Amino acid sequence: MWEMIKSIFFAIPRGLSVTFKYFLKKKVTVKYPDAPPVFEDRYRGLHYLTRYPDGKERCVCCGLCAVACPADAIYMEPAETEKGERYAKVFEINELRCIFCGYCEEACPEEAIFLGHEFEFSSGDRGDFIYTKEMLLANFDKIEKDRVAKNIKPFIRQEKYQFKKPADPIH
Ligand code: SF4
Ligand code: SF4
Repeated sequence: MWEMIKSIFFAIPRGLSVTFKYFLKKKVTVKYPDAPPVFEDRYRGLHYLTRYPDGKERCVCCGLCAVACPADAIYMEPAETEKGERYAKVFEINELRCIFCGYCEEACPEEAIFLGHEFEFSSGDRGDFIYTKEMLLANFDKIEKDRVAKNIKPFIRQEKYQFKKPADPIH
């Protein structure tokens, strides 16, 4: 009985007060797709593999991202150039397995892999979610092209790294 009285005189008015409070607040409806959504810098979307300023790919196929990945979403096969430099002959991410935790970018010693802000990559075909090295590098090229065209800074996780060019980049 006491529980019912509490609910009628306290809980229900308290719940309704929240409803009435938000009646008076500014609406937060996102008008997607008519207006692009705004993401926080920390948002983690589709991956990309980065390049050095001269276009060379940064990934040395060390495997640390794959080891760090809790979803077992990354697969790679290493190879070496004629100069003995290591690179990824095959590098794939299964975006259906990925839980977008960001451990791969944290683990990478080469600042070669990041999760960007792209979120529009739905498909009805499961095979479309296997992103190859070429697709992941193309994601970076697109991001860089847009960034330069719009004169915007890299997002915060990418910016915290220096993107130093080593004396002798790979192949
Ligand atoms: S974001 Fe997480 S789950 Fe996705 S590939 Fe990277 S480490 Fe794996
Ligand atoms: S993306 Fe980074 S961590 Fe992953 S294999 Fe390449 S260099 Fe290693």
